[in-house]
Amino acid sequence: MTHETVLTLRDVACGYGAQRVVANLNLRLNRGDIGCLLGPSGCGKTTTLRAIAGFEPVHQGSIELAGTVLSREGFTLAPEKRRVGMVFQDYALFPHLTVAENVGFGIRRHPERDAKVRELLDLVHLGSLASRYPHELSGGQQQRVALARALAPEPQLLLLDEPFSNLDGELRRRLSHEVRDILKARGTSAILVTHDQEEAFAVSDHVGVFKDGRLEQWDTPYNLYHEPLTPFVASFIGQGYFIRGELCAPETVRTELGPISGNRAYSWPTGSSVDVLLRPDDIVYAPDSALKARIIGKTFLGAATLYRLCLATGTELEAIFPSHTDCVPGEEVGIRVAADHLVCFHSQGSIAAHEAVPQSGVRRYSAG
Ligand code: ADP
Ligand code: MG
Repeated sequence: MTHETVLTLRDVACGYGAQRVVANLNLRLNRGDIGCLLGPSGCGKTTTLRAIAGFEPVHQGSIELAGTVLSREGFTLAPEKRRVGMVFQDYALFPHLTVAENVGFGIRRHPERDAKVRELLDLVHLGSLASRYPHELSGGQQQRVALARALAPEPQLLLLDEPFSNLDGELRRRLSHEVRDILKARGTSAILVTHDQEEAFAVSDHVGVFKDGRLEQWDTPYNLYHEPLTPFVASFIGQGYFIRGELCAPETVRTELGPISGNRAYSWPTGSSVDVLLRPDDIVYAPDSALKARIIGKTFLGAATLYRLCLATGTELEAIFPSHTDCVPGEEVGIRVAADHLVCFHSQGSIAAHEAVPQSGVRRYSAG
């Protein structure tokens, strides 16, 4: 299969009036792929979707869909001419129209409207509820009506803004998988917005991590987790914290946990001060290890247990041990670092701007 680009954002800046919310935004989405904009509340995700939908102009740069320029400075193609569909957070169904009428709304003049509506309702598993009104549906069913309605005009691109945020836990998880299956079955390209990493990973092929109106990394979930390009991405994706180290070889850093090596080489001079990313699953339980830590906290997660550990130096760590490793707070345990992906950032680089660097101990980067 060839990877044809469907959506291109080039150096986009956008916002409200003169206020700039998003800047230097570059991304490409392949046809049939699902992309996700992930980031804390207020970082500019909805603003970006509104610019793609044509509700807001771009201040700079361009937005192209299937080779057609939709937006550039001084030009904004009207939303209804874009072949871009949108599913809103609150579904925005028409309360006085039935399920079938809602789904058929955007294709009123289509010669085979009724057949299309039936097909879409089957697709979203609502075939038996066609004559109900929105208030007679559950939240999950309303969400599926909104999805079917947005798909009816066969948009080139579907935009979904926090589509599951009004649903709770299990339903949310189930529906996010279902939406992915539906979009994939129809080959619809889509951009989803969420602040929930689990949801982003469940639904998307590519995820963009946003911070303060900037896209820090647009990548696969695997690369975001294992190859984060910035300290913020490293901290925002999964659980993670940093310990101070010193580069002693291109692939090895000396730390208070001993040398840590990985499969990535760094070109900074030997002796450079670096911050090394550790995730709770990088620290493993090793009773025979000379490296000891005291248990200072414990959270049972079911399949595993998350422990807070303290080294003799006072440095605190987090570690995930298998559930049956039942340690008690106060106990001293042997640990070992088992990080096969060595991820570190130069302490004088982007990190130093965030906060003062402690000489030992743990660094955290605010995710908010
Ligand atoms: P997100 O969707 O990531 O939570 P938004 O894109 O909604 O964030 O908002 C980004 C920033 O733009 C926020 O600082 C917000 O206050 C501001 N903003 C959002 N909507 C408007 C608006 N209609 N007019 C002015 N500023 C807005
Ligand atoms: Mg939003």
